Formats: sequence, C-alpha cells, structure tokens
Amino acid sequence: TDPAVIRNFCIIAHIDHGKSTLADRMLQITGVVDDRSMRAQYLDRMDIERERGITIKSQAVRLPWKVGDTEYVLNMIDTPGHVDFTYEVSRSLQACEGAILLVDAAQGIEAQTLANLYLAMNADMTIIPVLNKIDLPAAQPEKYAAEIAHLIGCEPEDVLKVSGKTGVGVRELLDHVVASVPAPVGDAEAPARALIFDSVYDTYRGVITYVRVVDGHLGRRERILMMSTTAAHETLEIGVISPEPKIADRGLGVGEVGYLITGVKDVRQSRVGDTVTSVARPAAEALGGYEHPKPMVFSGLYPIDGDDYPELREALDKLQLNDAALVYEPETSAALGFGFRCGFLGLLHMEIVRERLEREFNLSLISTAPNVVYRVIMEDGKEVTVTNPSEFPTGKVDKVFEPVVKSTVLVPSEFIGAIMELCQNRRGNLQGMDYLSEDRVEIRYTMPLGEIIFDFFDQLKSRTRGYASLDYEPFGEQESELVKVDILLQGEAVDAFSAIVHKDKAYAYGVEMAKKLRELIPRQQFEVPIQAAIGARVIARENIRAIRKDVLAKCYGGDISRKRKLLEKQKEGKKRMKMVGRVEVPQEAFVAALSTE
Ligand code: GDP
Ligand code: MG
Repeated sequence: TDPAVIRNFCIIAHIDHGKSTLADRMLQITGVVDDRSMRAQYLDRMDIERERGITIKSQAVRLPWKVGDTEYVLNMIDTPGHVDFTYEVSRSLQACEGAILLVDAAQGIEAQTLANLYLAMNADMTIIPVLNKIDLPAAQPEKYAAEIAHLIGCEPEDVLKVSGKTGVGVRELLDHVVASVPAPVGDAEAPARALIFDSVYDTYRGVITYVRVVDGHLGRRERILMMSTTAAHETLEIGVISPEPKIADRGLGVGEVGYLITGVKDVRQSRVGDTVTSVARPAAEALGGYEHPKPMVFSGLYPIDGDDYPELREALDKLQLNDAALVYEPETSAALGFGFRCGFLGLLHMEIVRERLEREFNLSLISTAPNVVYRVIMEDGKEVTVTNPSEFPTGKVDKVFEPVVKSTVLVPSEFIGAIMELCQNRRGNLQGMDYLSEDRVEIRYTMPLGEIIFDFFDQLKSRTRGYASLDYEPFGEQESELVKVDILLQGEAVDAFSAIVHKDKAYAYGVEMAKKLRELIPRQQFEVPIQAAIGARVIARENIRAIRKDVLAKCYGGDISRKRKLLEKQKEGKKRMKMVGRVEVPQEAFVAALSTE
C-alpha cells in the first residue's frame, strides 16, 4: 500500500467515554463488520473485558475509507482507559500519527482525558478533539467544547460532535481523520524496521506480534530478528486485522500496521517496544522503544488447597505468556503455605490477574492485601528491597523509602475541601490547582502510592458523589517513618497479616484491624485472642469467644433434605477458608485492611 493513503490513528479517552462504542460504529460504517455480525464493543474480545465492560488490551484494526475517488487505509487502535493500563496506551500512540481525543459530552474532561492528552502531545501527534454521546439529553456540547478548546488551544468550533451510539457525525469524523492526520513517512528502500506495540499469546498459534512498519518491508517466510534479544525467527504468517486476521501475501510496507506469527510460544521473546528487522539485511539502529512497565503493587497468591500449588505455578507461567507485565516468584508463608508473591501494575491489574487465574485455570485462591515495594537501608549500609511486609527487617534499620506518585484529581469545585481533607489524610502534598472552567478544578498532589492502594479511589468517589476522577503516575520515592504492624492469632504472628504503616497511623491501624478481624473470623470451638503489635509491643487486642458450632441443631428432627442442604452450604462456606494454625480464617480477613470506613 502506498503510504500516502495510509492514516494511523488511535482513540484516547477517559474510561467509559465511549471509545469502544465509537470503534464499533467505525467498523460498521466502513463495512468491515456487517450489521448481522455486529455486537457491542466488538473489539473487546476477552470474556472478562465483555463482562466488566472495560478494554484491557489495545486492538488494531484496518478500515477501508473512501474520500472522493481515493481509497484510504485507516488503521485504528482502540486503547484501554484505566490508569493501570497507561503503558498500553503509550505504546499504541507510538504506532500512530494522530489521536482522536474523545470526551463524553455529558461529563466533560476527566483525569484520564488529561493524562492521555499529555501522552499524545508529548508524542507530537495530531490531536482531533471530539465530543461523544451528543444524543444524550444531558449532553452539554457547547459548554464542554469550550472546556476542550481552552485545554488544547483550538476554537470551540473545531471540536467535532458525534454519537458513537447512533453513528451521527462518525462519517465526518473519518473524513476529518483523512484530511488532518499526516500520512506515515518512512524509507521504503531502507532495511526493515517495525515497532512491536503489542504481543499476545494464542493457545493454537503461539505468540501473535502486532507491529507497525516504519521503514522497509517485512514479508512472509522471511527470517526476522528481534533487535533487543537478537533472537531470529521465521515469519510463518503475516497479515492485517480487519477485524479478523487476513493474510497479506505481499507482506507489510512503510506505515502499515499488522501482525506476524513465528511459532514462538513465549511473549517475552517478542517484547513490546522492541524493533523487528530482517536477518538478511538488518537495520543498524533500533527504533526508540518504551520502558518496560514496572510492577507497582505486590500481593501474595496462595491456593486454598495446598495440593493445587503446581497448578497455580503452571497457570501463572501460562498467563505470563499473555501478560508480560505480570511478575511472580515463589514464596512460603507460615500461615498460608506455598504460594507466589506477584507484582502488578496496579489494583485493577491485580484483580484481573486473579480473576483470570480462577476462571481460566479453575483455581481457588487466597490473596493477601496488596502492598508497595519498600527500599530499606540498614545501619551497616546494606540495602534490602521488601516486596512482602512480613519480610520487613527489624532491628538496625537506618532509612526506609517508599514509592510516591503524582496524582491528579478532577472535581466540581464544590468538592475542593473534601478532596483536600482526604489527600492530607493520606500524607499528600499539594502541588497545585487549576480551574478547567468556572466550576471544575484540577487538583494535583504528590502522595505515597501505599496510601492510594488502600481504598483511596472508593473514598474519593464517595466523598464527591462519584464526580471525582483520578489519575496518577510514578514520581520517585521518599524517605518515611514506617513501621511493621503484626497481627497475632492465639499469640502467634500471622505473616500474611503483616502490614507496613506510617508510624503516626500504626496505632489506629492496629485497633481497626483487630476489630475487623474479630468480626470477620467466625467463632470457633475455642477462644481466639487477636492482637496487633509493633515489634514486641502489643497495641490492640480483641477476643473471639468460643462457640459450639452445630448447624444441625437448628433443624428439629425430620427434614433430611433440609439437613443435607445445610451441610452442603456449610461445605461451600468452607471453600474460602484457610486453616491458620488451629483457626479457620476466611479469605476476606486477608484483605480486610483494604477497606476503611
Ligand atoms: P470506553 O470505556 O471508552 O471503551 O467506553 P464504551 O464504548 O465501553 O462505552 C461506555 C458506555 O457508554 C457504554 O454503556 C456505552 O453504551 C455508552 N455509550 C458510548 N457511546 C455512546 C453514545 O454516543 N451515546 C450514548 N447515549 N451512550 C454511549
Ligand atoms: Mg473500551
């Protein structure tokens, strides 16, 4: 294909502003999906994406579009909006020259709108501002067009207005993409260079690598080289997605977006951000890649049934083929037995990995409360990286560093006070505040990541009646006075319950945890004392009184089937229990720290 007729663009937006729905209309209007096969959020192919209504993986689709007599090729990339998947967005951007900045006409600009806009601006992309959902009665297109114009420095009239739902304005938008997004430029005669912007593992076909060709040409049955690993493979298949895979007999040329299959089984062999070149005529220099995402949040994953440990290991191995951002290593817990310490990009990523493990691999798991990574400097100068609170060194600690994020909150101005109080509470430092319009503000705080992962988002929402939106990015680390709080059951510290807490909050945390555990752990046939302690100092205690639990006592005589049901039910209830010493502890107890009131 002649690069002059190619337009590569992506859609960026805050979550739920309608990217996937707009992508649906584009699939339909360009005719690549017929009305009969159409279903909502067509490109969200994973079950979990469809159920939760969120996009996790980016998707690239090739769309034919005619303007006048010219047939253009549009490559559209749908991106995830959630903060955990920002790295997915940033890599999609590098495969495009233009970005549609989509804003819900009933909501206006939100935190991820800004975050994604800045990513696109830094990448020097052409930005097409678009208001979506103009069919909604609550839409205020004039108001928000002014907001967007103010933000990106254009005229309010330049903001296009569409409805991804009804299709209004979508044809005009595609025409506009052709007119305003620059055609890709590259050297067709140069050695091949293609950027890997995604790779996924398919059970039947192995790794499918998504690439954007920058220079030269990649063909079928060609020996190719991954420049960072120097691994060579042969392309078994090369093609484009439209929206199902279509083999491209002539391969992919300058500016084209497509996929290749080499039969490799491990996504790590096909690293996102790496450059693909040809063995016969390798490029001298790789394209600028992106940093590999670093895990920010850790948690322990344990099989409820210890016998499932080998299956859990296998499941993690397989899942990692698909999700290069997941890291894990074996760990042993005195309370929970053999399991893994896993690193995630954020809380949503964590939830999704866990859900996929349970659903796709049929495992029952216990997960411990998430924590961040601490860097501990000992008095003798030794440095320890702590990803598991129970391994926090005691004794001769000199300094402790914790990760910090720069967070941006967008709210109606009436909630400024509520936000400031919450952020201050979470050890935040006010960095600045800007009015986006008369009644909406952007508030910026730096804050320990450890404070954000404990229900910060829920608190934010509940204190602003759902109006606040949040985005954050890593912002180095800071030294803090942190201590380890242990929880003891029957006098024994339970490693899976340990948490690292700021010194000033340790007491309140201990009291709260002891109280919560008393409510969560069912009464047993013996008394269970619960204690919270810092080192040897006990800071809180509670008691679970003993009970003789006899469910059958409840049904007087007769009804056998009812008895059986009760027994079954009790068995069900036990599934999510883990024996810790002699005490039965439900899963919720291990993540009790996650909710504060
Ligand atoms: P994404 O998170 O940006 O991909 O958003 P989705 O495309 O999944 O849409 C989020 C919600 O908004 C869904 O319930 C859609 O049905 C709805 N939606 C999307 N576009 C429109 C639109 O133009 N009009 C209306 N009324 N609803 C829309
Ligand atoms: Mg989506």
